[in-house]
Amino acid sequence: MLHQCFQTHRPKNSVPDQQYHRNLLRQRNPIPDRFSSSGVYKLTCLDCHKSYIGQTVSRFYTRYNKHKSAFYHNSRTSNFAQYLHDKAHSFGPIDNIMQVLHHQKKVAHLNTIERFHIHIEHAAGNHLNDDHTVFPNKIFDTLIKLNTPLTP
Ligand SMILES: [Zn+2]
Repeated sequence: MLHQCFQTHRPKNSVPDQQYHRNLLRQRNPIPDRFSSSGVYKLTCLDCHKSYIGQTVSRFYTRYNKHKSAFYHNSRTSNFAQYLHDKAHSFGPIDNIMQVLHHQKKVAHLNTIERFHIHIEHAAGNHLNDDHTVFPNKIFDTLIKLNTPLTP
């Protein structure tokens, strides 16, 4: 939806747009206890190394537990858990499968940050079940080429 906004209401690849995204996507304040905050995360399958990008306004470990619960109850509420079920791959401990990509409390920014990271994984052919969620995005492509500093 945000992507469509850019397409419709803003000139493509304008300088202010790029600057806005570069500032937004740069991680400024990494938090030591990383799973106790909110933001954008990556889950990686230990068996095939495919990844899933997600966002959460609750704490990362709360979100992890929901994915885990969905996996063990096969409740179809998590795309990641569903993928593991379909492939008969295993669910791992939080330290092994969850990676914090971006700490962010402002809900309005989560969609953009999430889409950016999905775009990166998709471009690498590494994101699972995303065929209907990834669209061409010239701003993201440009930022990836510029090698914008991201999270450690
Ligand atoms: Zn897998």
